[in-house]
Amino acid sequence: MDAITIAIDGYSSCGKSTLAKALAVKLGYSYIDTGAMYRATTLFLIRKGLHPSQEKFEQNVIEQLKDIHLSFKYNPSTKGSDTYLNSENVEVEIRQMSVSNMVSDVSIIKEVREKMVAIQKKLGKGKAVVMEGRDIGTNVFPDAELKIFMTADLEIRMQRRYDELHSKGMLVSMEEVKKNLESRDYQDTHRKENPLIKAEDAIVLDNSDLSRLEQLEYVLKLIKNL
Ligand code: C5P
Repeated sequence: MDAITIAIDGYSSCGKSTLAKALAVKLGYSYIDTGAMYRATTLFLIRKGLHPSQEKFEQNVIEQLKDIHLSFKYNPSTKGSDTYLNSENVEVEIRQMSVSNMVSDVSIIKEVREKMVAIQKKLGKGKAVVMEGRDIGTNVFPDAELKIFMTADLEIRMQRRYDELHSKGMLVSMEEVKKNLESRDYQDTHRKENPLIKAEDAIVLDNSDLSRLEQLEYVLKLIKNL
């Protein structure tokens, strides 16, 4: 079978990365986590002391964009790729709540999205790629051969994110996780620029009651039937 492009979009914490990574390993494709790009950009802005509550936030963000250089390196121990911000490995830091709480205010900005999408198009140019995010099937690769739109019950997504953060030593409360997921989902689906919506030709995957293996097998079957 010829190499294809697989676009996975969906709500926060519904297991997009888990599925995308497993598919990439199974198919020998590269895996691209586009949320990591928005997160690394947000981390850079936090370090510069910028915050959405400030006057001229958007203008200041746009001015900083030229100094943000993102790259990725395969990490054999996680079987994923680590995100580098100006040559520094920021893979762990970008998962912190301070970043999660600000990232949707950054990803709303048109110029930020243009920069990220240009990188994503370049990375996925040769196909054989699994790319996950919020606008991959609708905007980055509208011609992707397979588009999956993922969702799961909020309670289940909360528990998954809570467990993930706690396993990394980030001891947030369930209430904080809930607030963050709800506000990001709202902002991501209501923004003007490339909001999270299901592409017309995307297949909905609700994995509330599926194991990791079950969801992988389901998608592998879809690929086989393409
Ligand atoms: O996937 P993850 O939860 O790490 O994404 C973090 C945030 O980045 C999302 O909540 C969203 O605001 C933004 N994002 C986006 N478009 C993408 C991927 C992520 O706007 N393609």
